[in-house]
Amino acid sequence: MSQDIIDLLRSRGVEVKEIAEIVRELQRPYSPTLTILECMEAVESVIRKREVQYAIMTGIALDVLAEQKKLPYPLQEIIEKDEPLYGMDEVLAFGITNMYGTIGITNFGFLDKQKRGIIGQLNANKKNHVNTFLDDLVAAIAAAASAKIAHQCRKLSR
Ligand code: MG
Repeated sequence: MSQDIIDLLRSRGVEVKEIAEIVRELQRPYSPTLTILECMEAVESVIRKREVQYAIMTGIALDVLAEQKKLPYPLQEIIEKDEPLYGMDEVLAFGITNMYGTIGITNFGFLDKQKRGIIGQLNANKKNHVNTFLDDLVAAIAAAASAKIAHQCRKLSR
């Protein structure tokens, strides 16, 4: 199941390593020795959660259906044009970050503004035609993985 989700993300131009790079950037000030492998492990552990997998599947399905112009009116136009007031892409992404406490939610807000790395590329539609849900999902996975690492570090230092 986890591999299916990794394959699904890859089919939309997103690699686990690219999400891990955002996680490392986010955590660098707090954990300067954090490796890309540790970040990839954190991303993969987020992707192993069933709720996360459901959120990813749902969001990507809507992006793909919008690309194929198969959504009902007026949703088709709203999702295809990434209407700023739609907001359901963020709501779905919160389903991922909410499981990782306030650090997850704060990280998500930060990433959503900064649009670093792969998130920026998705937002600029450099990959696929419609990424309305995917950019928020990727930001949420990165935010969750980053929160997970933050919680682990706190445990270790006690
Ligand atoms: Mg979006």
